[in-house]
Amino acid sequence: MRETIPCFGPSLKDLLCKELCRTMAHMPETIIARTYYFESAHRLPKLPQEHKCSNMHGHNYKMIVTMRGPLDERGFVLDFAELDAKVLPLVKQADHTVLNEVPGLENPTAELIAAWFLDRIAGAASVRVYENEDCWAEAGRGNA
Ligand SMILES: [Zn+2]
Repeated sequence: MRETIPCFGPSLKDLLCKELCRTMAHMPETIIARTYYFESAHRLPKLPQEHKCSNMHGHNYKMIVTMRGPLDERGFVLDFAELDAKVLPLVKQADHTVLNEVPGLENPTAELIAAWFLDRIAGAASVRVYENEDCWAEAGRGNA
């Protein structure tokens, strides 16, 4: 006579595997981005005097902040209003200023401006800063 093995239902391992597959199949990482603008003056102090960018001048900066992650229960990576709450106070620090006078931006190249914002926006995947239509620099985390 064969002994029957009682059934206790799916194991915890089976349930975890099923949940992981569901999560990976239906909740891929998603990217959102929002564009911000600020107008600022700067000079680049590490350049020779004969370089035009060593003189004080200004840009109408455009900046794109990217966030990456799984969707929350609302279907958002992050509510754009919540992104604004993180970014706008920083934009206010930079707008209509001499960037060289902003702590941390003593040498305000586009690269270092992007890094300055990235360091201060919790969870940001990347920050791209345009000095004009043709030239931009981007600072990012991971494979953003
Ligand atoms: Zn410039």
